[in-house]
Amino acid sequence: MPIYEYQCDECGEKFELFVRSTSTQEEIVCAKCGSTKVHKAISLFGVGANPSGGLSATSCGPGPV
Ligand SMILES: [Zn+2]
Repeated sequence: MPIYEYQCDECGEKFELFVRSTSTQEEIVCAKCGSTKVHKAISLFGVGANPSGGLSATSCGPGPV
């Protein structure tokens, strides 16, 4: 299953999150302070796992609005 690492913009806490469904637009909250101002840091499965998978296109997402 995909595991994504997020980092909190408020307190800098890093935490991993299991993502069961990418179609679910759940709001990601910091595991430490509860802030919703978090960004995806890395995908543990995406780093060198499959160079031909084009993971960079899907892991980046639409970006902040
Ligand atoms: Zn935080």
